[in-house]
Amino acid sequence: RPLSSSLISQGNRCSLGREVERFSTAAALEEPITPPVRKTFPTLDPRTGEVIANVAEGDAEDIDRAVAAARRAFDEGPWPKMTAYERSRILLRFADLLDKHSDDLAALEAWNSGKPYEQALKIELPTVSRLFRYYAGWADKIHGLTVPADGPYHVQTLHEPIGVAGQIVPWNFPLLMFAWKVGPALATGNTIVLKAAEQTPLTAVYAAKLLHEAGLPPGVLNIVSGYGPTAGAALASHMDVDKIAFTGSTDTGKIVQELAAKSNLKPVTLELGGKSPFIVCEDANIDRAVELAHFALFFNQGQCCAAGSRTFVHERVYDEFVEKAKARALRRKVGDPFQKGIEQGPQIDSEQCEKILRYIKSGIESNATLECGGDRIGSKGYYIQPTVFSNVKDDMLIAQDEIFGPVQTILKFKDVDEVIKRANMTRYGLASGVFTKNIDTANKLTRGLRAGTVWVNCFDVFDAAIPFGGYKMSGIGREKGIYSLHNYLQVKAVVTALENPAWL
Ligand code: NAD
Repeated sequence: RPLSSSLISQGNRCSLGREVERFSTAAALEEPITPPVRKTFPTLDPRTGEVIANVAEGDAEDIDRAVAAARRAFDEGPWPKMTAYERSRILLRFADLLDKHSDDLAALEAWNSGKPYEQALKIELPTVSRLFRYYAGWADKIHGLTVPADGPYHVQTLHEPIGVAGQIVPWNFPLLMFAWKVGPALATGNTIVLKAAEQTPLTAVYAAKLLHEAGLPPGVLNIVSGYGPTAGAALASHMDVDKIAFTGSTDTGKIVQELAAKSNLKPVTLELGGKSPFIVCEDANIDRAVELAHFALFFNQGQCCAAGSRTFVHERVYDEFVEKAKARALRRKVGDPFQKGIEQGPQIDSEQCEKILRYIKSGIESNATLECGGDRIGSKGYYIQPTVFSNVKDDMLIAQDEIFGPVQTILKFKDVDEVIKRANMTRYGLASGVFTKNIDTANKLTRGLRAGTVWVNCFDVFDAAIPFGGYKMSGIGREKGIYSLHNYLQVKAVVTALENPAWL
């Protein structure tokens, strides 16, 4: 099926699921993103490692230009001054356009990141448009308070947009991360410079074009594709950026926070890595627990910051669970993400693929039991076999580091107090999962686990209204829900004297 002609230059049509000929983002970039393209870099198809398109390589100079445009749009443009209802309507129109173009967007997402097309179309795209509708709903419900004072004063607070927001997103959920960042920032009246991940720049450009079609004024949203140490660092350290929001690895998060502090002390929100426990209690229905634990780890090729990457199983049901988890992993359908029924596509690139294989080797060397998988599939593209390790110990590297791949590690526990302690023995605290029929056990675990999310008898529920973020080194602040609005608002106290007013 041909992609929409707005995205491909004339005469270069391509069919999804087949080898792609030439593809140019130039057509998508024609307006309103106008800077001259001085340098380009290739963006690749993870199925083959071949070039999809050559994309503009933004650097510090382009970030300067984008920030200047966002600054102008904030200081002089209509966006922060228009009624919240008008802003809300633009976001609603955008959500409708996302639905209308969901086929193309899902195809681009699958093509550029390797995730199954059906997953992108049926799970991610509806979540993205829902999120924009959610924040459209908030736009005209943001207001300050009337505050009591000790003296003869009328005190009110104004909730104002923070200004120019810098946003840096990763490659694992390019469009979803775009939504988590752009939705609340626009609803609150900010302008934006967003740096897309170098591996997956295409859907952000397409979505920005749709936002302009929905009526977003020029300069409000600026997308820069480019590398982290150049474009990303320039954005984090820019003196004219008022806030930075970052999603990616913990190491890069530290750099971003340092750059923000050393420049203009801009506030920072960080959504970083995780090593989330998924705890299967002895009373659990094992077949269901196996299925959910499998989903918690293998979803999106295992490339989820929230992945349930330490599967803790009670000793009484451990052997049965391991046997069934192995059987489930062996049944997992791996292949071309455009084929129907495929559950797992390729990893994002050769670097991540190599890294995952190194972790698998380390698991074998540290005497964890390799139940299945462990190898690359074929020599073309970045496919890895669904891999399961049992007899994993807390101090093994595979139980400590974020592998970010299709590698399940299964650990044994004896009682609830012990598993809480061990689940918390990590520098991360992003998410966690609990599987039990016992309400007392569930309550004890939900209170004991030090993580930003506890999913009980479910996993990866990412509704727009549910806040998401990390304890400890998994991040600072929360995205989604009402919590994210506060990341993009300043509070101004206005204190007016009620006695001796100036007009008397
Ligand atoms: P990364 O942290 O290097 O990249 C995330 C974003 O930060 C990208 O847009 C990148 O260009 C940018 N960036 C990189 N260096 C920067 C710098 N010095 N200054 C400013 N921005 C910079 O993550 P990655 O290389 O894509 O993946 C590495 C690891 O990060 C993964 O293996 C995984 O552990 C983790 N990761 C986590 C998430 C998450 O959602 N929490 C997402 C992707 C990757």
